[in-house]
Amino acid sequence: MTRIIGPMPWLKEAFVIFQKILVAVDGEPVSAHAADVAAELAQLAGAEVAFVHVIDVELVNAADTGIQPDVFVASAKEDARKLIDDFRKRLPQRMAALDFVPIGAPHTEIVNAANDWPADLIVIGSHGRGGIKRVLLGSVAEGVMRNAPCPVLIVRARN
Ligand code: AMP
Repeated sequence: MTRIIGPMPWLKEAFVIFQKILVAVDGEPVSAHAADVAAELAQLAGAEVAFVHVIDVELVNAADTGIQPDVFVASAKEDARKLIDDFRKRLPQRMAALDFVPIGAPHTEIVNAANDWPADLIVIGSHGRGGIKRVLLGSVAEGVMRNAPCPVLIVRARN
């Protein structure tokens, strides 16, 4: 696991308020960075981690895919499990993680997962599939930040 935070003992106490950390992941590289940050915070704080990957309902309903919605959802769920398993492998040994794979609008479902679990910190990438395109935040990160029931840690895309 990449070390993101140096070995500063006082940090452990600062982060102990976060005991349930929800990491929002898509297939873009910044999600791996977000997962590493979340794992390190979880280690510092002794927190639980959960991954959420939302199957975007707009893709399910897209008329031009030529695929039945239930077939599309089944395959998207399988892809999501594989994606989350890859993120799970980035966690330190013995750190378990829950996973949530809801269907809907990504920012809404991330906020819903944070409410339902409930999370006390959301870690999210600044830009994912939406790309950087000179905007400060991607639309998912912005939607989450505006509606989250808890603090949100936004991990900047490196490129
Ligand atoms: P975007 O707003 O698409 O540029 O994405 C910003 C960040 O939101 C990504 O780095 C992910 O952390 C998160 N994200 C985007 N899409 C999803 C999704 N479908 N499920 C979970 N998290 C997502």
